[in-house]
Amino acid sequence: MTSSPVWHPFTQHGLEQQFPEIVRSEGAWLETRDGQRIFDGISSWWVITHRHRHPKIIEAIRNQAERLDQVIFAGLTHEPAEATARALLDMVPAGLAHVFFSDSGSTAVEVGLKMALGYWRNIGQSRTRVLALEHAYHGDTVGTMSAGARGVFNAPYEPLLFDVGRIPFPLAGRQQDTFDALEAECRTGAVAAFICEPLVLGAGGMLLYDAATLQEMQRICAAYGVLFIADEVMTGFGRTGTAFACEQAGFTPDILCLAKGLTGGSIPLAVTLCTSAIFQAHLSEDRARMFFHSSSFTANPIACAAAVANLTIWRDEPVLDRVKKIAEAQERGLAALEATERFENLRRLGTIAAAEIKGGDSGYLNDISLRLRAALLRRGVLLRPLGNTLYVMPPYCATDDDLDAVYAHIEDAIDEVGR
Ligand SMILES: *Cc1c(COP(=O)(O)O)cnc(C)c1O
Repeated sequence: MTSSPVWHPFTQHGLEQQFPEIVRSEGAWLETRDGQRIFDGISSWWVITHRHRHPKIIEAIRNQAERLDQVIFAGLTHEPAEATARALLDMVPAGLAHVFFSDSGSTAVEVGLKMALGYWRNIGQSRTRVLALEHAYHGDTVGTMSAGARGVFNAPYEPLLFDVGRIPFPLAGRQQDTFDALEAECRTGAVAAFICEPLVLGAGGMLLYDAATLQEMQRICAAYGVLFIADEVMTGFGRTGTAFACEQAGFTPDILCLAKGLTGGSIPLAVTLCTSAIFQAHLSEDRARMFFHSSSFTANPIACAAAVANLTIWRDEPVLDRVKKIAEAQERGLAALEATERFENLRRLGTIAAAEIKGGDSGYLNDISLRLRAALLRRGVLLRPLGNTLYVMPPYCATDDDLDAVYAHIEDAIDEVGR
């Protein structure tokens, strides 16, 4: 056992005792204290978009740290936050009008849920029910766990979780079941909001559904006045092939949650955007109607400066061309995996490629994921299968050679682990 007092997230310390120490990052690569180079095949838990240490983002952080580090954001404002909000509104689907800052994906989602409930209360309607998809993941706080799928991850906390209307995941060919369940819930008139991860359920196992289905779910919500909360914490900033996944279904959600890629993945920051109607419902001379939420580091200036640099990169650089190149390399990689006949359900959306290991136990706690992860790490590739779902989600700077090597290592590692 190590003598470190550090308690790591989603880690069983009884099974994992050795943690490589990372001392540097560059582009798509990490480097350990021992000098091993590791390819970051999961973009450091889905946050790194362009690359590790993009020079423009690092420069913005450095410059901002020279001027203003942190300041309370209630009653005061600052240019990095104002600039972040302006640049975001230029980039997101038209119709969103206000930007609320927080500091993680979970808080962005909590804020979205609170905005939705505050909206209905302030306009004098008693709608409090929340709907979410089966297999959803929206974060690890008590509120976001409530919206997320129930399972081994949250069983100990079950008594604290609030009841949510669970809508079946739209399996290909079975979408009508989803639409019917959604419509039946909406028709009750009690539903405040439907929250969903557009096009891909990430932590639920990289489960894909198509844009027409997303569009129809949104249409049903709109028909009953149910607020649509798009949790684009993972899908935002190019992951699905467009800047935001909702674009592919051609609609603007009432509430949009963003985090991971907002600063290019360099530093924590999150936002919840909403329509003018939701802001207006809180606008009053009555202090009891204000939006009751804050966190100490709301709109931290250094994090906002990193976001502004990221949004400028999106404006000025051909980011989506890079995303397209990654998508093509991923497609080749999947073809190589298919040829091994060791995988099934091979699928891709934008820069995300995923497949199930054949004959594997699909439970999150199965041990193939641990063994495969270790075998890959020895080969200098960081991947972290979800149960028996293997996925590759690299930073956008990964080269064809990088990705070809990753897939060759996967074949090799699966041979080793399968033996
Ligand atoms: C990661 C994730 C979250 C939670 O974000 P944190 O920053 O880890 O709190 C919420 N929703 C989705 C879809 C995510 O992928």
